[in-house]
Amino acid sequence: MEKLNPFEVTQRQLDECARILKLDPDVHAILRVPARELHVSLPVRMDDGSIKVFQGFRVQYNDVKGPTKGGIRFHPDETIDTVRALAAWMTWKCALLDLPLGGAKGGVICNPKEMSQSELERLSRAYIQAIYQFIGQDKDIPAPDVYTNPQIMAWMMDEYSKIAGKNQFGVITGKPLSVGGSAGRGDATARGGVYTIREAAKECGIDVKKATVAVQGYGNAGYYAAYLTKSLLGCKVVAVSDSKGGIFSKEGLVPEAVREHKANTTSVINFPNTKSISNEELLELEVDILIPAALENVITKNNAPNIKAKILAELSNGPTTPEADDILYKNGVHVIPDFLCNAGGVTVSYFEMVQNFYMYYWDEKEVHERLDKKMTFAYHSVLNTSKKYNINMRQAAYVTAVRRVVEAMVLRGWVRGRLYADS
Ligand code: GLU
Repeated sequence: MEKLNPFEVTQRQLDECARILKLDPDVHAILRVPARELHVSLPVRMDDGSIKVFQGFRVQYNDVKGPTKGGIRFHPDETIDTVRALAAWMTWKCALLDLPLGGAKGGVICNPKEMSQSELERLSRAYIQAIYQFIGQDKDIPAPDVYTNPQIMAWMMDEYSKIAGKNQFGVITGKPLSVGGSAGRGDATARGGVYTIREAAKECGIDVKKATVAVQGYGNAGYYAAYLTKSLLGCKVVAVSDSKGGIFSKEGLVPEAVREHKANTTSVINFPNTKSISNEELLELEVDILIPAALENVITKNNAPNIKAKILAELSNGPTTPEADDILYKNGVHVIPDFLCNAGGVTVSYFEMVQNFYMYYWDEKEVHERLDKKMTFAYHSVLNTSKKYNINMRQAAYVTAVRRVVEAMVLRGWVRGRLYADS
């Protein structure tokens, strides 16, 4: 089994980028670790009257390009190293999309599936009370991630505003529309990914209307990925899965119907007229486009040789380990790396902040057009860099993003005016 600490994975990816860029060792050392992290204990009154103490984190990785930004995960397996890794990826993601933001991430160790709505509300408010001093619309702006949603963002924004004594809509993004949310934020992560898939298909000579798709994970990102690859691009979605297992249909699935089935039964499994498959089998299906949209480290050196997809669109953060990366590259799989593919979420979060500050809101069409422009531009920047330097798409994404962060560090005087060791 490969060692699968996600923070070590991000460090190894950065080390490789540093090698390619011949990055100055001092700059490299700064970028290898988070700037700040906060660990909090959250006593929460449960519905049965008892108090349960939850552990939470907020990591601000690098804020040289602006206030830090990144989601909050509520997950039973959350660890500080996962949060560190995700905060690092947010730094590269915001830089790659040229957003005036740094990277951060938050997490609380809990199982939202076993908590009532009122327990979740108390936990969300407790988390904001604990990190209040650490965040702010010009400091650090949280958002949703795995198992957090617009309702949770509304509670968090409300708690922050109450403590501040004034409405502070811009402190949290991914809010519901009626309390300062942005049109188009709900499906933004998947939609941004689908725009990059459209561009990648052109690059790979794939006719999207004839392409087959498999999606691992059926939360917000996974569902909309299935729905939008079908409705926007005309692909056939032949397999989807969630944590309980997967389903396959040669004829193609109707993503909305599968979502309804999951809402009624808690899972996509046992959807009528489909074949049951495991998550592992889904990843190895003979499809044109594979979209991991769940958790980290699902494509490893063990299953990478069996991946048959032509395009791997990483909608989740960190689905592929470094060893797997090398194998995929050798096998000619076109990888749209995570912090490019899933950047649509934070991009529309940034649009949400802009609208909050201006108190003027755009319609959905405007959000989609602006998102398409940013994602398409970012995809082609990465593709061109990968061709120019003969490096894989992930390395190209790192090179593009890290250069921008380093440039800002030099301009702000954080490091000497020597970007790279040989310059
Ligand atoms: N959690 C999302 C991500 O990983 C969105 C972050 C945000 O909107 O700030 O990119």
